[in-house]
Amino acid sequence: MSAQVIDGKAVAAAVRSEVADGVTQFRAKYGRAPGLVGIQVGDDPASELYQAGKARAADEVGMVSRRITLPDTTSQADLDALIDELNADTSVDGMLVQLPVPAQLSEPLIANRIHPDKDVDGFSPVNLGRLMRGEPGNIPCTPQGVMRLLRDGGVPLEGAHAVVIGRSLIVGKPQSMLLLQTNCTVTVAHSRTRNLAELCRQADILVAAVGQAEMVRADWVRPGAAVIDVGINRTPDGLRGDVAYDEVAEIAGWITPVPGGVGPTTIAYLLSNTLAAAYRRSEIHA
Ligand code: NDP
Repeated sequence: MSAQVIDGKAVAAAVRSEVADGVTQFRAKYGRAPGLVGIQVGDDPASELYQAGKARAADEVGMVSRRITLPDTTSQADLDALIDELNADTSVDGMLVQLPVPAQLSEPLIANRIHPDKDVDGFSPVNLGRLMRGEPGNIPCTPQGVMRLLRDGGVPLEGAHAVVIGRSLIVGKPQSMLLLQTNCTVTVAHSRTRNLAELCRQADILVAAVGQAEMVRADWVRPGAAVIDVGINRTPDGLRGDVAYDEVAEIAGWITPVPGGVGPTTIAYLLSNTLAAAYRRSEIHA
């Protein structure tokens, strides 16, 4: 058996095209483009690449993007002051602080400081609470991308057993909540989980968000299962996911590649969140 490859680039292109149409309509209605600001503290090359990719993607769908790079010695007070300024700036619909940040800065303080309506990463307590309650809000981008990949791949969700490996606030926890909302039965696994391989073999849908190159092997996967690989691991052999792609593709029903799977959809949903945030703010202030 050979898995159906879910093409993240194609899915992301479809999402970006929907957003571009939405941006055109937004401009026609409100006479301005949605604005996205990316803040980076320090000059980490990977963060640099991510920030540049996000800004380019925003520009391509017709948004106004701005990148702000601060020195890696920036204090929490200075970063807070910048966030406050952007919270008050009516041309800014969405902002994000590229993670990880230097040790003197606190991720929870940042997540609490960004106004929830402008928190397009969806990491703030308010947005995570809204997700838990099933209320509208900014939902973290990577898990949204995963749901779209499953949907566009035609993977049955209702009643399916989904196993999510990883319980981070960015991926694992919001992912489990979204799968639950679509009526999957969800198991969340982590570093203390016993008999992980056996548990994974019970999954109809397996989402790997661990950060360990090629950890999920073919004998962890039930024949015909959908395997979604969130992992991005830089190895001496190049970029690898959390799934041993070649051998798992022989047994799974659906699989996402790395690169070209979840990654592109994450950025597409950042744009989607920014457009939705722009509409929400504009409708409130109209
Ligand atoms: P974190 O490091 O925050 O979380 C990793 C999770 O994996 C933790 O819950 C941890 O468990 C669990 N874990 C670690 N080792 C094992 C193990 N041996 N067995 C079972 N569980 C384990 O990572 P993120 O959630 O931020 O990211 C996960 C991966 O996804 C990374 O490779 C990251 O680069 C990638 N990523 C990709 C994105 C994309 O757009 N494609 C976006 C975001 C992340 P515990 O909680 O017990 O420590």
